[in-house]
Amino acid sequence: MKFVELNHFEKRIFTSKETENFLKVKNYADALVILLRNQKLDWDLLNNGYAELEKVKTKSFQFDGFVINAQLNPQRIKSTKADVTKEEIEKRDCFLCLDNLPKEQKGLEYKNEFLLFCNPYPIFYEHFTIVFKKHFPQRIDGSFHRFLKLAKRVHKYYSVLYNGPQCGASAPDHLHFQAVAKKDLIILDELEILINKYGEKLIDSRRKDVYGVSDGLRRYIVIKSKDINFIKNLFEKIYYSFQKAVNINTEPMINIIGNYNEIFGWEVIVFFRKKHRPQCYYEQDDKMLTVSPAVIDLSGTMILPREKDFNKINKEIIKSIFEDVIIGKEMFDYIKSYLKKSLE
Ligand SMILES: [Zn+2]
Repeated sequence: MKFVELNHFEKRIFTSKETENFLKVKNYADALVILLRNQKLDWDLLNNGYAELEKVKTKSFQFDGFVINAQLNPQRIKSTKADVTKEEIEKRDCFLCLDNLPKEQKGLEYKNEFLLFCNPYPIFYEHFTIVFKKHFPQRIDGSFHRFLKLAKRVHKYYSVLYNGPQCGASAPDHLHFQAVAKKDLIILDELEILINKYGEKLIDSRRKDVYGVSDGLRRYIVIKSKDINFIKNLFEKIYYSFQKAVNINTEPMINIIGNYNEIFGWEVIVFFRKKHRPQCYYEQDDKMLTVSPAVIDLSGTMILPREKDFNKINKEIIKSIFEDVIIGKEMFDYIKSYLKKSLE
């Protein structure tokens, strides 16, 4: 394949037509690889972010059937400690709006709807932000089909991630997703084991698999299907049943992984939350731990920006962090039985 290098263009944003033109194939995963390579040539902030990533330390904790890695990553402090209260959000300039982005940052347009950018504060060696072109609140309602389609368009190397506005998104006022390499999402590798060991099948159908999984730390629904309408309808039911369970009419706290595979189609994991941050986040002195779980933490990589927290972290602490932010058994049972009934 012969690509025109992106930095040969003087403009910042490459329209979807241009992106597809210089790829010759309609493959956004390869377009992202080129974008990252080019941005590393002349964007210091990004290079600095990736240099910091070289220094991260990792500790691995084996649970029964799965692994949680703790990652010491000081440059994530801003995101971990992001003040997402309404007052703070209204005070600051939105850092996802095009006018406020660093001038070196280049993006690829997707369908006149989203812009795909490199994240200058990466957690993994390939970390992208997918930003809605309009300043529009973070919500999955009304954009879930876009999320699924994006997952398909980048599936060659990447999965797409969503954090709810009240449980991990550092810009709750501007709709955005993330894309990271599939191999970096530990849970994707373990999913079959987790389903076999901890899963409950919620529908009996040959090509539509839906499971409720409760693995001792996390509670989530896994949907596997090639049928996008089935997934969309089911997601609406998940959303509605969770809303009902917590008795609200705004978005219930969810984090989502969207993965696509040519053999089985979409693989969607929906995590259910009861709190944004665990108790230890609000403690003083020695009890305090600066951790703010979002979808990447739930996927198996817990981000700790402070060294003393990283030194302290152990299985017991990990367990209590998850216990604080994940819904309880009773609520999960309610959601599962609602789904079972509606799938009959
Ligand atoms: Zn914005």
